Amino acid sequence: MRRLPLRPLELVPHLPVAGGGDAPPSAPSPVRSDAWALLPAELGERGVGSGSASFAALQRPWRWKLGVPDLSPRLLARLDELGRELPVVQRQERSDDGATKLLLRTGGDLIESVHMPRHVAAGGRVTLCISSQVGCAMGCGFCATASMGFIRQLSAGEIVAQVLVVLQALGPRHPSELTLVFMGMGEPLHNLPQVARAIEVLSSPLGLGLAPRRITVSTSGLVPQIDQLGALAVRPLLAISLNATSDEQRRELMPINKRYPLAELRAALQRFPLRPRERITVEYVLLAGVNDGLVDAERLVAFCEGFTHHINLIPFNPHDHAPFQPPSEEHLRRFTQRVLDSGARLVTIRRSRGRDVGGACGQLVQAYG
Ligand code: SAH
Ligand code: SF4
Repeated sequence: MRRLPLRPLELVPHLPVAGGGDAPPSAPSPVRSDAWALLPAELGERGVGSGSASFAALQRPWRWKLGVPDLSPRLLARLDELGRELPVVQRQERSDDGATKLLLRTGGDLIESVHMPRHVAAGGRVTLCISSQVGCAMGCGFCATASMGFIRQLSAGEIVAQVLVVLQALGPRHPSELTLVFMGMGEPLHNLPQVARAIEVLSSPLGLGLAPRRITVSTSGLVPQIDQLGALAVRPLLAISLNATSDEQRRELMPINKRYPLAELRAALQRFPLRPRERITVEYVLLAGVNDGLVDAERLVAFCEGFTHHINLIPFNPHDHAPFQPPSEEHLRRFTQRVLDSGARLVTIRRSRGRDVGGACGQLVQAYG
């Protein structure tokens, strides 16, 4: 197996401690965007008129006037005190495939979101990939975001505001046409309190009303936080980035495996409470000559025994920060066939969108320095 240029675990700052809680390593930015994360009753308690009406005015961007919620100057002033800043769209890059990568400035930091309409010509359904942190602490050897290191957590207000700003800029107008995936920058379960609050707000029927089943949180495998996610009252779907089928290789590709090895991760997935017809998505990034052997295909299927799942194969998206290549189409076909022959029921291949503008999975990175 090829040796990877990985930092040792000790040098990956802010990695959550084994079995510990999810205390954010740095508090999210104070105030600034906090009003976006308040529920209707909380707005009312803070003197923002009728909480429900103000909440709807804030959370339904298609009702905004010139980018500002349609509320009286007095209420807007009160919201300013609570923190009404929105991320600013610094740049939009549209890919040939119709996806748009948006560069957003929030506080002093840059984050990225990727807007992916399903049918470019017809409009309609959109998958929006959003960030949960500035950078990421997990240090995965194949991921461009890892090269930034961890900068800070996004607050719940910044996460909600990120969604609303992108909706306002690019739609869809109706939330029933929106699917949200926490697959942008950052490890969402390393910021679970803020991510959970953002999901609660975004799914409130008085605002956007996004069904929790249209929200997917993807994680590199933080076991205690997977359990906490499973216990949330407003619970999104779970996706797990597996990416290797032996502890030895997963440790090397994904340092988090040193804290939570495959057996612990698998046990957490097996006890995750699924609703009827719900599946855990198992993401597997294929790195040519590294983790794409046919025996890996067999072990991948074996790992997924015992929980209802969907295997999502992702050919590696090349970038400057990692030495890997995707497998050939021919090998991808062979690998997929072996997964199916090993007994997997549902297997899909993710054709990443926005690759030509650096907006595909694992290509999201901003230079700091
Ligand atoms: N931190 C979370 C979510 C963000 S990464 C997680 O790791 O799950 C979203 C997905 O992109 C993960 O499945 C990850 O394995 C994948 N990914 C990272 N770098 C990639 C790359 N260069 N090519 C393809 N997929 C990549
Ligand atoms: Fe972080 Fe996910 Fe990238 Fe790993 S793959 S470094 S967890 S964003």
